[in-house]
Amino acid sequence: MPARLTVLAGPTAVGKGTVSADIRARYPQVWLSVSATTRPARPGEVHGVHYLFVSPDEFDRMVAEGEMLEWAVVHGRHRYGTPRGPVEEHLAAGVPTLLEIDLQGARQVREAVTSRGLAAQFVFLAPPSFDELVRRLVGRGTEDAEERERRLRTARTELAAEPEFDVTIVNGDVTHATDELARVMGVTSPAPQVT
Ligand code: 5GP
Repeated sequence: MPARLTVLAGPTAVGKGTVSADIRARYPQVWLSVSATTRPARPGEVHGVHYLFVSPDEFDRMVAEGEMLEWAVVHGRHRYGTPRGPVEEHLAAGVPTLLEIDLQGARQVREAVTSRGLAAQFVFLAPPSFDELVRRLVGRGTEDAEERERRLRTARTELAAEPEFDVTIVNGDVTHATDELARVMGVTSPAPQVT
């Protein structure tokens, strides 16, 4: 099967980051794109691993020079974007490539691949229910009340976008959701678990 570009999107706090980290750990055949962002790093986040943490000026430069495959202002605040070069290099080398981005970004990637006739598939990660989404957002405790409200407003809109996607995976259990994503990507053998 040829390497394909897979775009994983879904509402805030649905667990996109957890599923992406899990697929990277258990299916090393998959390459996960590292986004650039103007958001400050959270404790424990590493430049070049979780994100490329760049200044607004550097982000402007990357956009102006055509280095972004897509970019968006997410939750009305910081900018996030996918550097184009590494994605193209990995696809050219035959590596199954995963983008974990927001809905606005997913729409831009769809336009970009459609206009260039590239193969890509779009996966929507859904929560078991809206109540569960709220519970996860409150439980993770990384946002203050105002930020949580902002993200929940975005989440309501984002949930309505599910029909735009090729595949929906319900994230009730991370391991199961990851295995399902791997199957959709055509990478079916997880790395052996060290016990
Ligand atoms: P966080 O600030 O919690 O790390 O991420 C906030 C949101 O930004 C998430 O919904 C995530 O999917 C989205 N995001 C991360 N990287 C990118 C990117 O490169 N492009 C776009 N459009 N969204 C991104």
